[in-house]
Amino acid sequence: MEYNPRHKFCCDSFAGHICEAGRKGLSYIPYVFDGKRSFRVQARACDADRMQYLPAARLAIPQPVGSLAIVITTGMAYCPACGTELAQWISRNEALFDELLASIGHYGAD
Ligand SMILES: [Zn+2]
Repeated sequence: MEYNPRHKFCCDSFAGHICEAGRKGLSYIPYVFDGKRSFRVQARACDADRMQYLPAARLAIPQPVGSLAIVITTGMAYCPACGTELAQWISRNEALFDELLASIGHYGAD
């Protein structure tokens, strides 16, 4: 997702991690469960658009190592950089949250 200066996040770090959604590394993803809006933090070992090239059969692993975690996603209540309570930020920015959800929310789908 490209940076949009009209988006008012709690801090530049949060904005940067939103822009990384779907790319390998750390990113923040909007998420809705049971109608409740939240953000999740995601660690991704492979770009989302490259996952198709990463079938388990192509991993040259000589011995069974068990399942590999290519993408790990979990909830977060506060911005890790500035400490903003994200539920409060979401309640003040519902339209932006829903815009983000439509744009990048699919990266956080289970
Ligand atoms: Zn922040």
